[in-house]
Amino acid sequence: MSRDSLIPKASRRPTEVTPPARLSHLQVDPRGYPIISVIPQQPGDVDFGVLSEKRKLVVATYDLCAVCALPFRDELRWQVIFGEEIQKVDSSVAVPEAPVHEICALYAAQVCPYVSSPYARLGDPYRKGQRRPETLTLAGFASTASVFGYASDVQKGENVLVYEMADLRRTHTLVSADDAREVYETALRTETAIELDDQERRIVDLLCNPLPENNEDSGTAMAGAALIIGAAFCPDIRQVQGMKMFTESHNSHYFPFATNLLFKPELMAAADFEDDSFAAAVSWFQTRENLPAVLEKWRLDAARTLRDPQGRRPPIARRQAPVVRDDEAIRKRHEAEARLRKQRKKGKGPSQS
Ligand SMILES: [Zn+2]
Repeated sequence: MSRDSLIPKASRRPTEVTPPARLSHLQVDPRGYPIISVIPQQPGDVDFGVLSEKRKLVVATYDLCAVCALPFRDELRWQVIFGEEIQKVDSSVAVPEAPVHEICALYAAQVCPYVSSPYARLGDPYRKGQRRPETLTLAGFASTASVFGYASDVQKGENVLVYEMADLRRTHTLVSADDAREVYETALRTETAIELDDQERRIVDLLCNPLPENNEDSGTAMAGAALIIGAAFCPDIRQVQGMKMFTESHNSHYFPFATNLLFKPELMAAADFEDDSFAAAVSWFQTRENLPAVLEKWRLDAARTLRDPQGRRPPIARRQAPVVRDDEAIRKRHEAEARLRKQRKKGKGPSQS
């Protein structure tokens, strides 16, 4: 059965849906689909059919949304959960997709005919072309507990990055197109802006606007830069799909350099990086008061086991991010959700499509 024959009423063309403001910096493909941050995007060759493990590593390192590439701040991190899978989700779950903002997940549910493509569960051939389950559940977690390389069930012999999500706080169960639209439109009305500092802006710009003259996916150079500031210590990263290029002999300096920087962070200030991605990574790293929890964990775990030739440990200063909650944004969202629940109680329940 062709996929087109299954295009359900549930999906709308991207031109029919007002996108969230936070997607406004994304490039758009000829059909109008925003080019999300985790798909391969060599200039002129954007592939919605797969996930880039290199880009997944970049969003994990900087703690960015897999759709819009902006940071999470105080917002929950959302994952698409299939049909009955939600029964198995306790308070945590490990999945091969990078998390996204709530509004980005709800938008994807609007324009994507299948939860399996192009916005979620990409690169999973078992699910490609499968019919979307009747019920789509989005699950919002308070934190990304860890990210690690894991032997893929579907891509034999190669690891993929897995995200361990923790502390399930909220879910959206979308049973019909009308339901999905209503929840999305509520989220759109209460969308809050995410302000970036200069260093964050540089990272987002590089990731979302590959320069045609470079003629390569900026995700590649950015993954290399992510490795040196700490992604090299992501468990089993060397076996992850696409990472071989960073271990091959002519490129073998990435991992030793990362270790060197862990022992001598002062080298970062001294280094003069010509490459934009490396300069941006180092300047971002040096200007953070706190590192994202995942990156911090990679570095602390490495510091526990690594020793220099004199047997000394790396001088790691713990830079744990404080829990920041945007109370005003949270209040606004709660109010909007309460209004929605009220409307539903009044008999305006989700219609069947
Ligand atoms: Zn987002």
